[in-house]
Amino acid sequence: MDSGMRRIAIGAMGGTIAMMPDETGGGVTPSLTADDLLAAVPSLTEIAEITAVTLAGAPSPHLTMADLVAAYQFCVAQAECGADGIVLTHGTDTLEETAYFLDLVWDRDIPLILTGAMRAPSEPSADGPGNLVAAVRAASCPELAGMGVLVVANDEVHLARTVAKTHATATWTFASPGWGPIARLAEDITVMMRPARRPAALPVPDPRQVKIPVLESTAADDGWAIDAVAHDNPDGIVLASLGVGHLSVPARDAAVRAVRSGLPVIFASRTGAGPTLTRAYGYAGSESDLLDLGLIGAGYLTARKARLLLHVLLCAGHTDLAAAFAEYGA
Ligand code: ASP
Repeated sequence: MDSGMRRIAIGAMGGTIAMMPDETGGGVTPSLTADDLLAAVPSLTEIAEITAVTLAGAPSPHLTMADLVAAYQFCVAQAECGADGIVLTHGTDTLEETAYFLDLVWDRDIPLILTGAMRAPSEPSADGPGNLVAAVRAASCPELAGMGVLVVANDEVHLARTVAKTHATATWTFASPGWGPIARLAEDITVMMRPARRPAALPVPDPRQVKIPVLESTAADDGWAIDAVAHDNPDGIVLASLGVGHLSVPARDAAVRAVRSGLPVIFASRTGAGPTLTRAYGYAGSESDLLDLGLIGAGYLTARKARLLLHVLLCAGHTDLAAAFAEYGA
């Protein structure tokens, strides 16, 4: 019988939200299934008609590209079966990367929400149950449809494109530096902002390992790490560069050697917020110089998200990477 409630599919991928201490008294490890997560919050069944599946009982540092592609396939299958919204529970360490990866390839309009927890269910102030309820409410909210992949935590809703884990331990860790949340949950869900545009979905990559290291540039960077990595046959290099996209002269020279050897070299801002620029500075190693020398700016993408975009573009056989970064990094 049709309950009239929205149909929400939950895929559990592990993380602290699903971790418990074992008998030996060591640290928490993943042990809870999707059904366990549901059982801890009986009120969920008053919000929506829930289907829950355990996809991966893993700490997020253990998740592979194959796990991410499998999560995507789960979401597509649930959408085909008539789900009105989808929630993935996930470890917070790499949550923003899985969310952004899915955002790049997700071409449906139903809400696809990621959530997690900073405190394990065994702790007195566990945030998992509240975040799960908030995520199911958000996934059931028609106003949040068509916005791409979203992250819900601490009663805030963030775009996958902008969200980052910004604190190692705080429950308010998820933020969109430089932008802010697009919606808040209180008694109702208040949607304040919609993205002006949503770039077209890209083809789902095969889960092969693509070698794209992220290197953070530092003060007095001698360029050694860039040369060392470039000699080890990567598929590309992402530099977390200084400010609006700057490198020391030795780092710039090493990056140019990598470009001339045929490697795509992307530079993002290591600041964590704000874009790489194109024409504000004109010295050797400045953003305009790097662009002239064939490097590609990541725009508003953090280095770790630029790495995922490059991965998906390379797997899709994109040849005009600069144009793609201008489109997806804006
Ligand atoms: N290490 C955990 C994970 O990402 C942390 C968390 O879930 O908050 O799986």
